[in-house]
Amino acid sequence: MIGQRESASGAHFAFTDRWGGVSAAPYEQLNLGGAVGDDPEAVRANRALAAGSLGLDPGRVVWMNQVHGADVAEVEGPWTTPVTPPVDGLVTATRGLALAVLTADCVPVLLADPVAGVVAAAHAGRPGMLKGIVPAAIDAMESLGADPARIVARTGPAVCGRCYEVPEEMRAEVAAVEPAAHAEASWGTPAVDVTAGVHAQLDRLGVRDRQASPVCTRESKDHFSYRRDRSTGRLAGYVWLG
Ligand SMILES: [Zn+2]
Repeated sequence: MIGQRESASGAHFAFTDRWGGVSAAPYEQLNLGGAVGDDPEAVRANRALAAGSLGLDPGRVVWMNQVHGADVAEVEGPWTTPVTPPVDGLVTATRGLALAVLTADCVPVLLADPVAGVVAAAHAGRPGMLKGIVPAAIDAMESLGADPARIVARTGPAVCGRCYEVPEEMRAEVAAVEPAAHAEASWGTPAVDVTAGVHAQLDRLGVRDRQASPVCTRESKDHFSYRRDRSTGRLAGYVWLG
């Protein structure tokens, strides 16, 4: 259910694993993604189960329509529009409102400045990391009074640099933008380490309190991995101020 949970000075961070939900194969069990072909009723039930285990009201969790971009939306409550806007980052200064990010190999980024009372969640896959979703999220937090020196950053389970094989040209393109993401697969071919790239970007932005999950989604049977299974569920990362 909740694979990793942490609270720091009133800010709460949590990342799910794939167990403890009601979805059938290939989304078993705790699929939290609404756009992967799973039964919407099962997704609704899973979101309620996950929220309940975190002590959250499922109606006070804000989800995104993630499109591998770099747009960040400020929210003060759940969406009131019929269609969820296409963004890859959310920021709020509303206490008790949880922001959620969906992933299955991409890097879920959770950010909080407990002093300013501002949190953000971002979806950083390879394209989003290159387009600047991380600086965009920090920028949105700063506009609400956050200070990077106070921001606590946690990244969740994601495909690791030893497993994320890409063509040589793609690795060169990525490394030209973010050298820290240059990697080599465990079998010796070109690869990309998106988590390393995200943390290098956060470091340059002045965010010092950072931790990355040691879990590789492609290697862990307890997590969904798009690169391993293609048709599969989505994990979620949640951040909120208590
Ligand atoms: Zn790996």
